[in-house]
Amino acid sequence: MDLTLRCTFCDTLNKVEVEKARQRPKCGDCGRPILLDRPVKVQEEDFGRTVLESTAPVLVDFYADWCGPCRILAPILDEIAGENVGRLVVAKVDTDRAQKLALEYGIRGVPTVVMFKEGKEAGRSVGIEPERLKAMVEAA
Ligand SMILES: [Zn+2]
Repeated sequence: MDLTLRCTFCDTLNKVEVEKARQRPKCGDCGRPILLDRPVKVQEEDFGRTVLESTAPVLVDFYADWCGPCRILAPILDEIAGENVGRLVVAKVDTDRAQKLALEYGIRGVPTVVMFKEGKEAGRSVGIEPERLKAMVEAA
């Protein structure tokens, strides 16, 4: 399962084998680690190649900095990312900086968490629904 991800340090796009994420993959350009045991931030311009073209399931947290419930949900998503390394990837999209995407996917409130499989929506959770999130992750 491949995921294309922009290095947070040098902006280079890297193709990562998700199954090998525990072996601490490094950026091909700057050599710094690509960490998939925590949510990765995805910008609007990278959403297509990172999320939609991923052959691994990607759980996307559509959030906003000013949103209190998003902060409550954050540690739950951190935990999901840590527990599912090599199986799926957790991504975060700041809806204030990705308004086109939010519109395209019908995000009416934050947090909204959407599971993407092979570029298609495979589940959605709105607000704080840990049980629903767990079920979505198990089904991925
Ligand atoms: Zn880099």
